[in-house]
Amino acid sequence: MKIAMVGTGYVGLVTGTCFADSGNIVTCVDINAAKVAALNEGKIPIFEPGLEELVVRNAEAGRLLFTTDLASAVKDAELVYLGVGTPQGDDGAADLSALWAVVDGLAPHLKPDAAVVIKSTVPVGTNAQTYARLRELTGRDCHVASNPEFLKEGAAIDDFMKPDRVVVGVRDPKVGEKLRRLYAPFLRTEKPFLVMSPESAELTKYVANAMLATKISFINTMANLTEKLGGDINDVRRGIGHDSRIGFSFLFPGVGYGGSCFPKDVRALEAMFSRAGIDPVMLQAVDVINEAQKRTLLDKINDFYGGDLAGKTFAIWGLAFKPRTDDIREAPALVLIDELLKAGAKVRVHDPEATENVRAAYGDKLSYFDLPLDTLDGADALAINTEWAEFRQPDMNEVKKRLNAPVVFDGRNLYDCTVMRELGFTYYSIGRQTVR
Ligand code: NAD
Repeated sequence: MKIAMVGTGYVGLVTGTCFADSGNIVTCVDINAAKVAALNEGKIPIFEPGLEELVVRNAEAGRLLFTTDLASAVKDAELVYLGVGTPQGDDGAADLSALWAVVDGLAPHLKPDAAVVIKSTVPVGTNAQTYARLRELTGRDCHVASNPEFLKEGAAIDDFMKPDRVVVGVRDPKVGEKLRRLYAPFLRTEKPFLVMSPESAELTKYVANAMLATKISFINTMANLTEKLGGDINDVRRGIGHDSRIGFSFLFPGVGYGGSCFPKDVRALEAMFSRAGIDPVMLQAVDVINEAQKRTLLDKINDFYGGDLAGKTFAIWGLAFKPRTDDIREAPALVLIDELLKAGAKVRVHDPEATENVRAAYGDKLSYFDLPLDTLDGADALAINTEWAEFRQPDMNEVKKRLNAPVVFDGRNLYDCTVMRELGFTYYSIGRQTVR
């Protein structure tokens, strides 16, 4: 099939590349000319494991093209995928201005039998509005489908190539069949291809993210209680996780969720509740708990230093909102950095992939290091925000030697409390008793 993929970010680039890899001809469109120029030179603007090799291979085979010219990409396409950003607007609801700009721009060039497929996460009713807008602009009924994306940054290729399920929302069953053929190469392990109404498909994406965000806020709340009452949240987690109704996934305590999806999608769903006249009390709680959790390491740091952080130096490991990505959007580490700087502390940072994004935002306000151990020289304590694999088993004797004092604030429970005690560390973690 000939496909146009409009919006070449995390989702658009992965989707376009994976469709090209199964033999389709995909033209990726973006308004960011620098991004398109880089991609045309085989340079990948984001870090995502396995993506670069796949982009280069498919581009060299002539199946994956990059352009800023929407018209040329749309005019021959059977499917026009929309993967532009839908960030949080001022009122909490999703800002669809990029999506409408693309819909208006593509309308004059859309082939009569082509389908527009909305991959971006959009509020319920956006498919119907797109359908109405295209009808007004083209004077005919156009196919508009919804195909929300469930991939995780850091494992995006695998998630796309082997999805747990594919969800499509269609008005016309023929469009559903076309999308089923498109996805057939990715569903060979008999994972389901679920066809539903556009409204149900749109809602499915928000409900999935709200459920996951709720699990995180739930376990963080319980961790905070465990910490105060005595006990270890990891033991509690083991105690509940073996119950098959509960399970283990997505129940790791930490410093709160971040990224470009959970925070904005929870708030967009809140806005949908309010518009529907239902009090979004549960989602508000999820959001409030998460915002507080992003400050939990700061609270522990203030506890240890009696609130006086001026002149102290902190080493921070992990800046990305989660491992295996360079994405720092809404990352908890940024909240900690901002507060430490505000309190007059100095901050030395390391992340395996996200350092350049942080440097672009903070410039010379921070010191940046390629190796985690180098952040420790002259630092009064280490704070860990992201559970990158390389932070799990550092040489702790070296950590102790290089820090001014053996103090660790661990936002991801990477280390064993007993071992940290034996090594002589002061060790704060989440939902466990502090080692002093
Ligand atoms: P992104 O910001 O990485 O990429 C969006 C791209 O769209 C950018 O490259 C931008 O330049 C481009 N763009 C904006 N306006 C445009 C226009 N008028 N014409 C052409 N291109 C334009 O965003 P993302 O993380 O890829 O997210 C895209 C959508 O997918 C969002 O709705 C998001 O909620 C959803 N989503 C994201 C993830 C994720 O993990 N990132 C997962 C599932 C769903």
